[in-house]
Amino acid sequence: MKFCPKCGSKNLNYLPWLGEIYECRDCGYRGPLVVEDGEIAEALKKRYDDSDKEEG
Ligand SMILES: [Zn+2]
Repeated sequence: MKFCPKCGSKNLNYLPWLGEIYECRDCGYRGPLVVEDGEIAEALKKRYDDSDKEEG
């Protein structure tokens, strides 16, 4: 399973025609890096949710 390195979402699009790029449908992240560890993804998601609250 692959996760977004920014928000921990698994809602990723794979865009191979852009050169092995992934795009996150939740936060808009786009890049070659993804997280494949569920625990790291969970921590990222928590941190992303927290920073989202501070902004709102
Ligand atoms: Zn994301």
